[in-house]
Amino acid sequence: MRIAVAGALGRMGRAVAATVEAEAGLSVAARFDRPGAAGEGLVSQDAALAAADVVIDFTTPAASVALAQACAARGGPALVIGSTGPDDAQRAAIDLASAKVAIVRAANFSLAVNMLLGLVEQAARQLGPDAYDIEVFEAHHKRKVDAPSGTALMLGQAAADGRGVGLGQVARHARDGITGPRPTGEIGFSVMRGGGIIGEHSVAFVAEDEILTLSHSARDRTLFARGAVVAARWVAGRPPGLYDMRDVLGFSDRG
Ligand code: NAD
Repeated sequence: MRIAVAGALGRMGRAVAATVEAEAGLSVAARFDRPGAAGEGLVSQDAALAAADVVIDFTTPAASVALAQACAARGGPALVIGSTGPDDAQRAAIDLASAKVAIVRAANFSLAVNMLLGLVEQAARQLGPDAYDIEVFEAHHKRKVDAPSGTALMLGQAAADGRGVGLGQVARHARDGITGPRPTGEIGFSVMRGGGIIGEHSVAFVAEDEILTLSHSARDRTLFARGAVVAARWVAGRPPGLYDMRDVLGFSDRG
């Protein structure tokens, strides 16, 4: 299977290329980065799409939208998108493109994080808002540009799903000044940025007399690259549609 790597000069792009090269049956068919980027062996996006069965993309939301539209317009290749922080219009544009091409989009390609989503949903269902306050915490390296992380938002969504509420109605993204007491049912987010942290996430269920904390720690970003490669193998040859990592891992019934 021939893989094109988008954002090839980036931290994740380099990890993806190294992971693909180490896998049996896979090869890096093309590497590309932003238009005008200088780097050995880089080709244009058009040339990369023509050379690949699947594109693995860790760039920016805007670049991922343009890439999804280009893949849709030519009817392939299939796409694995890892960029985080899209706005509603960018999400909608990727949804639209997925009518013409198979896309796996995930804010986190780790098996264990996708397991954590299910555990958080289950805990939120059992530990009700009258007794348990839910707080999501994440920490990342200082170069990350979006906050909270896509994974933190997915964890908040899983907690809201468990409680049968809309995340938009209960999310609290910042506390500063005289905030007043914590409203019942709020799902709070807090964020730390610094150094080279690859990705820490935790969800705490905080009662008067106990705290349950479910947490995940990423130790090496090749973890995400390996998951993206699993997704690439899975999505090649699939019918058009928008899939996520739970489909890839068989945690949903669409797989
Ligand atoms: P990075 O800044 O190191 O790399 C991004 C690369 O994309 C850069 O080389 C940049 O030049 C390139 N790029 C920008 N516009 C482009 C375009 N139009 N076409 C091609 N390339 C373009 O960032 P990173 O740490 O590698 O992370 C990239 C994205 O992946 C971020 O959104 C990050 O949050 C996300 N991420 C997701 C996961 C996951 O599991 N889903 C894991 C880690 C990071």
